[in-house]
Amino acid sequence: MTISFNKPFMTGKELSLIAEAHFNGMLAGDGPFTKRCHAWLEERTGTKKALLTHSCTAALEMAALLLDIQPGDEIIMPSYTFVSTANAFVLRGGIPVFVDIVEDTLNLDQNLIESAITPRTRVIVPVHYAGVACEMDSIITIAKHHGLKVVEDAAQGVMAYYQDRALGTIGDLGAYSFHETKNVISGEGGALLVNDPELALRAEIIREKGTDRSRFFRGEVDKYTWQEVGSSFLPGELIAAFLWAQLEEADQITQQRMLSWNLYHQLLEGMESSGYIRRPILPNNCHHNAHMYYVLLAPGIDRKKVLDEFKRHNIGAVFHYVPLHSSPGGLRYGRAHGSLAVTISQSERLIRLPLWVGITEQQQIKVVEVLNASINGRS
Ligand SMILES: *Cc1c(COP(=O)(O)O)cnc(C)c1O
Repeated sequence: MTISFNKPFMTGKELSLIAEAHFNGMLAGDGPFTKRCHAWLEERTGTKKALLTHSCTAALEMAALLLDIQPGDEIIMPSYTFVSTANAFVLRGGIPVFVDIVEDTLNLDQNLIESAITPRTRVIVPVHYAGVACEMDSIITIAKHHGLKVVEDAAQGVMAYYQDRALGTIGDLGAYSFHETKNVISGEGGALLVNDPELALRAEIIREKGTDRSRFFRGEVDKYTWQEVGSSFLPGELIAAFLWAQLEEADQITQQRMLSWNLYHQLLEGMESSGYIRRPILPNNCHHNAHMYYVLLAPGIDRKKVLDEFKRHNIGAVFHYVPLHSSPGGLRYGRAHGSLAVTISQSERLIRLPLWVGITEQQQIKVVEVLNASINGRS
């Protein structure tokens, strides 16, 4: 039995909707399918303005442009994240300042943020790891107090909530990913959520090569011209058609993943009480989206041995981020704030288990058996 780490889920409607876009003869961006996706995202999340992008990476790059990041500006972010969180700001000359995470959710430690703030700090970037929310109330309070902007890297947070607010809608800007490894997908894809209405018009301009073309199409100006620095951040209609098929099924996708997530959680309870692993911890005020199931091995357990066992059984269980602060790019472009001891220890102990729509109970039982046997040396 081979159990892959991820299997992109198709709703079955993607091809007919792509055919519809093809038949419409409108293939460039911002056509009917893009507009449907924007309306859905705005209605479901409550953001002021949703704009599809090529990727979450592109949405983060738009955020850095929108916030006028200048060389030397400092951006507070976790080290335990994907490279795009940092790259987007480094491209503008910004300096990532890597702050440690909390042990329970592996999210940015809100209690360490203030000591990392300097006169050059401009932005805080909370990353909602595994679709579990950061402590946004504290982060927003700190940002307001120091006059900083907040950009949520909600790449993993589509259909997840903090209290009753959708992830990505709490900061000034939020970035979603529809990469095929995420919950709702379009191959490559993403969206920028513009929550601060004052940024909405410039967001459209930056996304359309720095022009006011969106206003021109709405009949608000009689010609479109170059307004400021921008790029081409919008996907074509074929991607938007694919995404629309997925957004229509977003609730069912989340429900399906949640069943599998809950099954792992139940199956692994015994291993946790025996002290072999720690399961994910969900704060009360979060509604996660079952993006990821991970376990943290108890200190002293050899992760490589466990991963080798999974490999031997053709099971796609994998580790995750190599902390950015200690990577060549991080050393060159960023700065570590403090020792980042939690980041180092948790990242070395973490294993992500296979989770996708359609994984069977039998497969999940097998995954847990292999994990158990590899730790107890009985495999
Ligand atoms: C997946 C991911 C990204 C990048 O998303 P793309 O759509 O592939 O650009 C950025 N940040 C985090 C935390 C992610 O998980």
